[in-house]
Amino acid sequence: MKLIGAGLALAAMLLAGLAPLAAQERRAAATFDGAAALRHVERLVTIGPRTAGSAGGVRARQYIVEALRTAGVTARVEPFDADTPHGRLPMANIVAVLPGRRPDVILIAGHYDTKWFREFKFVGANDGGSSTALLIELARELRERPREYTYWIVWFDGEEAREAWTAVDSLYGSRRMAIELDKARRLPRAVIVADMIGDRNLGIRREASSTGWLTDIIWASAARLGHAPHFLPDSLAVEDDHAPFMRLGVPATLLIDFYYPPWHTPEDTLDKVSARSLQTVGSVLLDALPAIENALARPLGGRP
Ligand SMILES: [Zn+2]
Repeated sequence: MKLIGAGLALAAMLLAGLAPLAAQERRAAATFDGAAALRHVERLVTIGPRTAGSAGGVRARQYIVEALRTAGVTARVEPFDADTPHGRLPMANIVAVLPGRRPDVILIAGHYDTKWFREFKFVGANDGGSSTALLIELARELRERPREYTYWIVWFDGEEAREAWTAVDSLYGSRRMAIELDKARRLPRAVIVADMIGDRNLGIRREASSTGWLTDIIWASAARLGHAPHFLPDSLAVEDDHAPFMRLGVPATLLIDFYYPPWHTPEDTLDKVSARSLQTVGSVLLDALPAIENALARPLGGRP
């Protein structure tokens, strides 16, 4: 099989009318479909506001689970009740498990809720929509091309504060999952969180509190793929769904483009998000996974 050249494989594919050989050739390279991801953002925005505990939130959850099912990925919904400044609200995290050759887990996550606003209709194309969409396409890719580690792709509910951001009014879904996994002694080996990564003018800065070696590996992949203009060397500190895991000692990093003028305004709409930006972040992440797995497999002292 190895000796078959690309030309011969193509001829065989044409003759057979099927693509088993071509499929095997493609298996070598991980791919990310930015256009498919943008279509998910479009569908999510059409739902409207997707605040935790709302009918829109339920519809977003149904959309994610259904899109995963179409991609051949089974997901479980983990419902819980959260005490918020607006009372007790029903929320739910979504988890897709993509088994690898070893049981150790790398968790890749983002939030699918949108921030609640009394004054205007907030559809969160980038803030909520982009990471939700990215994760659906990442799950599809990791199902088609399983890796060494087992991946949990997680859509957190209730990342947004209902009122002002505090330790108890924020990160409802990720705080809950981190505590539960810690109790069960099943914390992941590493956590990667994406948030607001669909901005047309993509500029992701290093998140200051994140684990340095994990961020370094992702930035190295970005440079290798020619995406250095979108993965900038300066840093800023942002609290997000990676924080509850970091507090428990799990290596974690946050990918966020926080310099986004429409942030938490009615202008966070579909036209601000591009397939190209989603494609950039998806490709960089997939490229970084082998190096992250290698670093984790090394004894602690040997980590970069
Ligand atoms: Zn937000």
